[in-house]
Amino acid sequence: MDFQKGQISISEELNIVRLVILGGPGAGKGTQAQLLCSNLGIPCLDIGQILRQSIISETEVGRQAKPYVEQGELVPDEIMIQFVRQQLLEPNVAKGWLLDGYPRTAFQAEELDFLLEDLEQQLNWAIYFNVPEMVLKKRSLERSRADDQLRIIERRIELFYQRTIPILEYYEPRGRLLDINGDQPPEQIHQAICQHLSLTPN
Ligand code: AMP
Repeated sequence: MDFQKGQISISEELNIVRLVILGGPGAGKGTQAQLLCSNLGIPCLDIGQILRQSIISETEVGRQAKPYVEQGELVPDEIMIQFVRQQLLEPNVAKGWLLDGYPRTAFQAEELDFLLEDLEQQLNWAIYFNVPEMVLKKRSLERSRADDQLRIIERRIELFYQRTIPILEYYEPRGRLLDINGDQPPEQIHQAICQHLSLTPN
């Protein structure tokens, strides 16, 4: 691992890092998640991706989530909370993780803390990629995916402001929020995060 001594105060815990990343659709979360995970040697749990996979495999949770995912709506909290609990009990995440796409509501953020308390774990940072709404829309339109039609993109952005932005007010007073300017080239964003976390960039 590329750790330097610094802000991530996890050395007592064998360098275990637990991060969540927050940002609207098209905020560049995926790219930064990959860079960070490879830097830290931790698995990246892309919750939206895992959900989509569950839909394809027609698992129970996949069947429940399908109508919401197809419409760009948020899957109800109760389903998501159970789903993430299962993901965090998998053996591959015992040595840390990065959650991409979760939490997405203030309730999920609070429930994640309860879950971590239960598992005797702690979240290190919530990293927020701060990107203007116009940029989110432009970037989302440039991607092409079944659930990326204009109406759905707009709905996902609307939901992001309504439901996910309030999460910042949950993490900020707890001293766990890292607000990063996401409207800059990916390498610079990665560098900014590494600087905050006292890591050597990839
Ligand atoms: P994403 O790829 O992260 O944009 O997720 C795709 C879809 O999965 C979203 O539009 C939601 O329908 C659903 N989803 C992913 N994460 C969550 C979450 N934390 N809470 C509720 N729904 C979610």
